[in-house]
Amino acid sequence: MNRYDAIIIGTGQAGPSMAERLAKAGMSVAVVERARFGGTCVNNGCTPTKTLIASAYAARLARTAADYGVEIAGPVKVDMARVKARKDALVDRSRKSVEEWMRSLPNTTVYQGHARFVAARSVKVGADTLTAQHVFIDVGGRPYVPDFPGVNGVPYLTSDSMMDVDFLPEHLVIVGGSYVGLEFGQMYRRFGSSVTVVEMGPRLIGREDPDVADAVRDILVAEDIDFRLDAKCVALEAAERGVRVKLQCDAGAPAVSGTHVLLAVGRRPNTDDLGLKEAGIEVDAHGYIKVDDALHTSAPDVYALGDCNGRGAFTHTSYNDYEIVADNLLSGASRKVSDRIPIYALFTDPPLGRVGMNEAEARGAGCDVLVGQLPMTQVSRAREKGETQGFMKVLVDAKSQRILGAAILGLGGDEVVQSLVDAMYGHLPYTVVQHGVRIHPTVSELIPTILGELAPLRSKVTASDAKEK
Ligand SMILES: Cc1cc2nc3c(=O)[nH]c(=O)nc-3n(C[C@H](O)[C@H](O)[C@H](O)COP(=O)(O)OP(=O)(O)OC[C@H]3O[C@@H](n4cnc5c(N)ncnc54)[C@H](O)[C@@H]3O)c2cc1C
Repeated sequence: MNRYDAIIIGTGQAGPSMAERLAKAGMSVAVVERARFGGTCVNNGCTPTKTLIASAYAARLARTAADYGVEIAGPVKVDMARVKARKDALVDRSRKSVEEWMRSLPNTTVYQGHARFVAARSVKVGADTLTAQHVFIDVGGRPYVPDFPGVNGVPYLTSDSMMDVDFLPEHLVIVGGSYVGLEFGQMYRRFGSSVTVVEMGPRLIGREDPDVADAVRDILVAEDIDFRLDAKCVALEAAERGVRVKLQCDAGAPAVSGTHVLLAVGRRPNTDDLGLKEAGIEVDAHGYIKVDDALHTSAPDVYALGDCNGRGAFTHTSYNDYEIVADNLLSGASRKVSDRIPIYALFTDPPLGRVGMNEAEARGAGCDVLVGQLPMTQVSRAREKGETQGFMKVLVDAKSQRILGAAILGLGGDEVVQSLVDAMYGHLPYTVVQHGVRIHPTVSELIPTILGELAPLRSKVTASDAKEK
């Protein structure tokens, strides 16, 4: 029996920082990792995809160089082996640094293997049984593979196996028109593949406002990505040169054939093989560990952090989970998950930065919603850079004057949107942001202009109106 003050299962985005904070507070800590140190973000998520997106951006810029008066002799070629090698080098460096970090912590023992509860606060890893006063579960998730008819009879890719691709698929069919599917779609189109995105819903990125989703689609259609929406009954079968995806769409041919198919239809938590029942830890219908607002599970002194608790699906939400738990446990704070304002990005080019509520959520919360918006064609920095796609939209509550949310689809949208979040956390009236002076020429400098032209949501200009301006 190996006794510790704390056991941490998983080295994703919450576990390593939690381990460091506890170890430096003098607690004895066991860290367990069954696969690669750093988890999804480092190995299969943020780091590799954003590195690949950078290569795709370079290819796009090279192809459009003439628009900027720059000549490139001969056709632009993408060397997929080198693209992958660049990605692998960055990932390897990050993974190694997480592992070295864990192994160098004081009071900490690292176990490599699969952890499984055998009782409350008692975990088996290989031949070792570990017990502790506190257990922190940070096991993350993995790609969800739906039981589409035929799925087991064909080769398919997931966001994990895409990391091993070092060749150019001739025609990549992507099932799933949400964040992961669209990032891969634009990336591979820019590398040179034909790309078809199949989406079961009536529009892409279903949690976004329709004008935002339509504008994202227009941007991708302009790069010759094909979309098949309303694909209600997806089925897969082998085709002569790859895979045929049957769709039964309301419109268009009933199937699309490609050389490769990527399934990007969501993720599921890594909780089915953790022995949670033995520890009295409850999960919901989708396998997410049930937690309260301070991330306690249903078992005393056991916490669930990161994607596995279903309260966030991002690196920054997982890291914030760590901050909440550590501050409450070690600094006597009373931080809560419900104080967190949703913020995230879709890393297409241009990116979509999102914070707070969308229109439907703002209306649903009973707010008297004002909206301000501006097409990126009216942003001088965007014109100067030749990147005028998209638009910006900010929602404000007429009564409280607080900023409710924003969607910034355009040049630097992932950064620009963050210029609103401090005012939101500070519960400041929007006029504070409106009256602040910003640098020219930037995209952010137009945020005060948008806030100076707020109008009731019902008389809002649509994205297509905006495009015609
Ligand atoms: C393609 C893709 C792109 C993404 N891009 C972004 C992005 O740009 N920005 C962003 O914020 N988020 C992004 N995400 C999401 C982000 O990667 C995750 O939200 C984040 O990694 C979640 O971290 P986590 O702490 O929950 O656990 P994870 O990072 O998933 O790590 C969990 C760890 O636990 C280990 N583990 C699991 N079970 C056990 C067990 N029983 N015993 C021992 N170890 C175990 C796993 O091996 C893994 O190392 C992306 C995800 C994907 C798939």
